[in-house]
Amino acid sequence: MNKYFPKLFTPLDLGFMTLKNRILMGSMHTGLEEKGADGYKRMAAYFAERAKGGVGLIITGGNSPSKEGIVGPHEEAFTSEAQIPLHKQVTDAVKAADKDCKICLQILHAGPLAKTETLMAPSAIKSPISRLIPHEMTDADIERTISDYIRCAKMAKEARYDGVEIIGSAGYLVSTFLLEKTNQRTDKWGGSYENRMRFPIEIVKRMRAAVGENFLLIFRIAAMELMDKGSSWEEVVTLAKAIEAEGINIMSTHFVWHQAQVPTISTRVPRAAFTQVTGRLKKELAIPLITSNRINMPAVGEEVLEKGHADIVSMGRPMLADPELANKSKAGKVEEINTCIACNQACLDHAFWGKTVSCLVNPRACHETELNYVPTENPKQIAVVGAGPAGLAFSITAAERGHQVTLFEASGEIGGHFNMAKRIPGKEEFHETIRYYKVMLKKHGVQVKLNHRVSTKELAEKKWDEVVIATGIKPRVPAIEGIDHPKVLSYEEAIYEQKPVGKKVAIIGAGGIGFDVAELIMHKGKSAALDIEVFAKEWGIDFKNHPRGGVAGIEPIIATADREVYLLQRKTTRHGRSLGKTTGWTHKISLLRKGVKMIGGVQYEKIDDKGLHVRINDTAELLDVDTIIICAGQVSKRTLYDDLQAEIKNLHIIGGAEVAMEIDAKLAIDRGCRLAAEL
Ligand code: FAD
Ligand code: NAP
Ligand code: SF4
Repeated sequence: MNKYFPKLFTPLDLGFMTLKNRILMGSMHTGLEEKGADGYKRMAAYFAERAKGGVGLIITGGNSPSKEGIVGPHEEAFTSEAQIPLHKQVTDAVKAADKDCKICLQILHAGPLAKTETLMAPSAIKSPISRLIPHEMTDADIERTISDYIRCAKMAKEARYDGVEIIGSAGYLVSTFLLEKTNQRTDKWGGSYENRMRFPIEIVKRMRAAVGENFLLIFRIAAMELMDKGSSWEEVVTLAKAIEAEGINIMSTHFVWHQAQVPTISTRVPRAAFTQVTGRLKKELAIPLITSNRINMPAVGEEVLEKGHADIVSMGRPMLADPELANKSKAGKVEEINTCIACNQACLDHAFWGKTVSCLVNPRACHETELNYVPTENPKQIAVVGAGPAGLAFSITAAERGHQVTLFEASGEIGGHFNMAKRIPGKEEFHETIRYYKVMLKKHGVQVKLNHRVSTKELAEKKWDEVVIATGIKPRVPAIEGIDHPKVLSYEEAIYEQKPVGKKVAIIGAGGIGFDVAELIMHKGKSAALDIEVFAKEWGIDFKNHPRGGVAGIEPIIATADREVYLLQRKTTRHGRSLGKTTGWTHKISLLRKGVKMIGGVQYEKIDDKGLHVRINDTAELLDVDTIIICAGQVSKRTLYDDLQAEIKNLHIIGGAEVAMEIDAKLAIDRGCRLAAEL
């Protein structure tokens, strides 16, 4: 028995197969699927690294069983035996890394969410998140699609996968058969719930017959769609039992349709918020259940299993952040885990933009064949200036490779701008990244000099082999008359120094930081990200009574600070467009529900005792605010670099110091790691 996490590391006997532990790497589309043979080579390395890292079961990204069902415009459906050798590269690599690690292929027919002109669905009803109207499937289409699923599962078996997962949730094809709002058929595939369940049941029944008994079949059920007109609890249970009866080995629970207006995996969602729903379903079934969503650390998974909410915990993004999560957990090295902070910035946002997925805190994710931290044969003395994300990422990576690194930081703590991010309600996870760096600096023997502002002279005096400037950014001060008025605060003064903020506030700049500052000053009470009940109230979820979809008829209730806040921008485009594709909408809904007034097309005229004078659509207006917080972007702090250029040969600049315009933590960490891999 494992002494740190006994439940997580108890094997699961499925009769014909044993899972070595209860940690599953959940299905994630990486974009590598769309890169042909090179993509499979990269996927093989990516999955093998996770297998080596100790995970018990891996589910691949979704594979469409037919050309009509593809999710990405360049994706290839798994329709031909000629593709089997490509998949074998992946399964062989996983088995070579750890023969006991199991891997299943996910079969995903996108239905009305497919990115193809031939998309299809039970009824010709457009999804609110798609531009295209699907064509209504004929009876022959349905029969052919079921056959496509079966062919795909048989080919998966030939490609040496241990099983398949059928995704029956999220608004993809299977799930659209289940709801009246997307299935208005009057034949045997629509109408009563018994008829609407027929499609998934036929798939499972015929698949089991085709692949035999000793092949893992997992069904991913929408246990809560989080939207009106979703399933009732009785329907969820009825479907789960019917699917179980057809020979599924494991039931996996999913908590969303992509069109739902409730955040389910972002950093503002509490850890393990949804597992109680799996717990209820577990009482109804005999087979093991998988639960998921915001289980990012082993202690969270252990607690979920301890409570009896599930038999297996799915950790998808945490495996991007740290491929060795399972081994580190097993060895009790929890502090060394690079925690997924649920930002979605390099994973889901990339997938939605059609870019290769990676991870903000681990740029090697999905880049295992090209970004490697090979031990150096030529250890160097390296000085790094600035312990923000860029300097930290560089330092631990260079030191891991064998260099002797000294890290200078002007302030009394490491983290740079992340020390402000972590103070925003809903961004508490950012503490974990700073903890990780702290532990790794120590582990790799980086000499950290805090409260040490480095001067040009000091750096030039000692003979360093390499000097890396990561001095970051400082807030931009816009040229507005009266900008020095005492009622003006920079975002640093508002967040970090916690200077008093009045009752009527104007925020100049509505980028990520403007939104975060608005969230901070409108916040009241407990952070929803730390309390499942507060979260449920804020987003109108009823976990206990489970109305249709978990949300029907429930009004969100949000506690709000007693403030009037204007969030201003010069652009006339929608507020929040620069925010993350998959998270921006949650920030916007949250602030609108808190009464923040979002105004665009603003020209700033002057600031005086009366407030902020602006022109909106060419009309002069006075916002009689008592505090103005400037969130107008940043400029690089690069004086040190500019001064040293003539003096030091091996001088490098990374992060915000190098480029202030698009800088965020994703870019800062990426630049740090890539430079450290090269030196
Ligand atoms: P910095 O973080 O600015 O670090 C530079 C460090 O160098 C500082 O610690 C500074 O003290 C030190 N330094 C400067 N000069 C010297 C010197 N002469 N000697 C020694 N030390 C020196 N980004 C995201 O990607 N996602 C988010 O969700 C996100 N949220 C944010 C929320 C808030 C409220 C804020 C303020 C920022 C957020 N960011 C976010 C932005 C992100 O934190 C920055 O882009 C990132 O920190 C930049 O990293 P950096 O290392 O280049 O610079
Ligand atoms: P930002 O996103 O570039 O936003 C800056 C804002 O300031 C814009 O709204 C801009 O809009 C305004 N602005 C720019 N110059 C101005 C000027 N001279 N006068 C007045 N207004 C001006 O930058 P940020 O908000 O500082 O964020 C910094 C980085 O951190 C970004 O890369 C961001 O993505 C990242 N971040 C991300 C998150 C997240 O949740 N993912 C959260 C926080 C920060 P107008 O020009 O229209 O006025
Ligand atoms: Fe987690 Fe953010 Fe990395 Fe995605 S990008 S895996 S959400 S830390």
